[in-house]
Amino acid sequence: MRENRRIDKYFFSVIMIAIIIIVSTMLVLFYLKYLRDLTSKNTFKNLGEVAKQDAQNIEDTIEEHKRILETIVNIASEENVNTEENIFKIYETNAGKEEFSRIAILYKNGKTDTSDGSIVDLSEDVNYFFQTDDIQISKTRKSKVDTEEINIYSKKMLWNGQDEVVILLVVETEKFESLFSQSLYNGNGIEYLITKQGEITANSRNEENGKNIFDELKKDNINAGKENERNIEKMYQNISQDISGQIIYKTKGNNYYISYQYLELEDWFLLIVTPGSIVAEELNSVLEVTFFISITIIIIIFIVSTYIIINNKNKKEKLYKLAYVDEVTGIGNKNYFLEMGKKFLENNIENAFLLVLDIDKFKSFNQKYGHRKGNELLYTIGEILTKILGNEAIVTRLANDAFGIIFEERDDINKTIENIEKNLTRVKIDDKQYQLYISIGIYKIKNGEKNVEKILDKALIAHDKVKGNYDKQYMIFNDELEQILEKEHEIELNMEIALENQEFEVHYQPKIELVSQKLVGAEALVRWKRDNKIISPNDFIPLFEKNQFIIKLDTYIFSKVCEDIKEWKKKFETVPLISVNVSKEHLLKEDFITEYVDIVEKNGLKTSEIELEITETATTEESVLSIIKEIKKERFVISIDDFGTGYSSLSMLHDMPIDTIKIDKTFIRQIDFKNNKKNIVQYIIFMAKQLEMKTIAEGVETKEEIEYLESLGCDFIQGYYYSKPLNKKNFEDFMNKY
Ligand code: C2E
Ligand code: CA
Ligand code: CA
Repeated sequence: MRENRRIDKYFFSVIMIAIIIIVSTMLVLFYLKYLRDLTSKNTFKNLGEVAKQDAQNIEDTIEEHKRILETIVNIASEENVNTEENIFKIYETNAGKEEFSRIAILYKNGKTDTSDGSIVDLSEDVNYFFQTDDIQISKTRKSKVDTEEINIYSKKMLWNGQDEVVILLVVETEKFESLFSQSLYNGNGIEYLITKQGEITANSRNEENGKNIFDELKKDNINAGKENERNIEKMYQNISQDISGQIIYKTKGNNYYISYQYLELEDWFLLIVTPGSIVAEELNSVLEVTFFISITIIIIIFIVSTYIIINNKNKKEKLYKLAYVDEVTGIGNKNYFLEMGKKFLENNIENAFLLVLDIDKFKSFNQKYGHRKGNELLYTIGEILTKILGNEAIVTRLANDAFGIIFEERDDINKTIENIEKNLTRVKIDDKQYQLYISIGIYKIKNGEKNVEKILDKALIAHDKVKGNYDKQYMIFNDELEQILEKEHEIELNMEIALENQEFEVHYQPKIELVSQKLVGAEALVRWKRDNKIISPNDFIPLFEKNQFIIKLDTYIFSKVCEDIKEWKKKFETVPLISVNVSKEHLLKEDFITEYVDIVEKNGLKTSEIELEITETATTEESVLSIIKEIKKERFVISIDDFGTGYSSLSMLHDMPIDTIKIDKTFIRQIDFKNNKKNIVQYIIFMAKQLEMKTIAEGVETKEEIEYLESLGCDFIQGYYYSKPLNKKNFEDFMNKY
């Protein structure tokens, strides 16, 4: 049972760790996805910005070029400019040499003279160049002078007031290409300058220009899916409407980020194409770091939580041990018994029993062999019981030498008990055999019973019935005991009210001195008068001793007795010594003596006028011995009641300030008059004389017993032979007669 609970907890912890790890991994994955999205957004943002910047640069350059051409044309239109040489001069002074390749003059017939001394035929392009008065910039074309890729700025003008010519300002396409950002993803991004129709005017790759970008994209688009087509179409539409934008373009092997930016000045577009793998590379290094950090965090969480769980487990185990494990035997303690018992009962097990077991005279075993051996004995008993009843049984030590067991009987309860008895009658510790007497009380648990303490009580009642009984070692709780239990319950319900209602009465049983045949004393005995019936003390005193009510009752009886003595002292010449019973429970109460002395004094009596009867079984404890000495200090007369049943040692008796020894009535019953055998009464009287103590025999019923006791030298007699216990009125009559 204990194991199960631990496994449950362990399982729970493992699940918790697993959940923590799964959740953190998911968080990390979400975070990575978030990073990816963010990177993609950032990439677009960056590309857009670069495209804008580059487009701006190109526009600025084109504007500057146009301005230069404008200036040249303006000056060239003046009157004194007559020769081509003049125009070339103007070019040289107004245009930076590095910026342009050359300037040229195109005549209507197509003949073109260049500033670097060539004559070229442009008759095919005459229509294009002459079509407008505005400055135009041509598509990229091959130079007829040196086959470089060039773009031509052109402007019509009226020369010398006669002929229309076109001034051509030639710039190498490379000029534009040099304006593309070189830093772009370590040069892995490609930039294009295209016309609105998609014709490539310039590119950052040193490739030949003039191809159509849309054709190129479509070429790559085979097998790349519908989404791709949609994206390209979108770009196409946007470009045709002069709208800048961005798309992701997928080929089989790669993704491309494409950003396109409109150049208003020339109706061109600037395109930046960046492979996703390049972006991913940058991202991956970020992800690697993130991943590494996350894994480190997860591992730390794992280690910390494992540490906490293990630590907790150890702490809980320690606490558990403190709370539930009996130190001496290593089995469960009473807490464990109650808690596990409760759980056991919840399962409604069919053939279940509760068993209470203890060792008779365990105290003497301890005295004889020492506490360590005593503990070893308890440990061994725990082991034996666990072995016989199995691991599923709840085997515990309830207190001292009392064991409580709850178990399911799978065979026959009588066999199991026999087995226990057999194994516990002789117990071996360190190769030495010890003879034990055990008492077992058993209760068969009924279906539906849930209260462990109640069923423990029932087993205890059965146990009480065999305790100290040598012919019977065990008893199973039965109907008769059940009735006793009910009666006890009823008594407990009524005892407090009964005390208030004065239902408890004192009766007195005379004590006669044998030699003088005079009334010398009486024992006060309580009687419970309820509904005109008298309940015997045997029916309630043991219960009151269990529930401590005896303390209240004894004090009450003691007061009543003192009041009676006070009254009698006025009425009678002499009052016999009245004895009152004191329970062990009461003796142990802290202020018991002062309380009794107070009551005595309040009634104007002396403590030496009252005798206290202390039962022998109470005197075997060291603590009681010192209490008896204190009582004697207060001068009470003391007698030891039920002598012979309590196994007090002679040496203890020697130390005790006792006046009278009261021989228990069972020994009077046992006297065998026919065979005149030696008996215990003889020994007790003999011993008492040695110790200079008086003896009284109680329960004396016959003349024969009187004569015998007289012959032994017994001092006093109490018993039915002289009188039964009498109520106050009858006892007063008795005093008058004697
Ligand atoms: P006990 O102190 O041993 O009292 C003697 C018992 O023996 C009394 O029983 C008495 O009635 C009975 N007895 C006396 N002579 C004879 C006889 O010749 N034959 C037989 N068979 N019995 C005789 P009782 O009054 O029933 O009391 C039973 C026990 O209850 C007492 O045993 C005592 O232990 C306890 N008890 C009675 N009154 C009080 C009390 O006020 N306080 C305490 N603590 N215990 C009391
Ligand atoms: Ca007594
Ligand atoms: Ca007695």
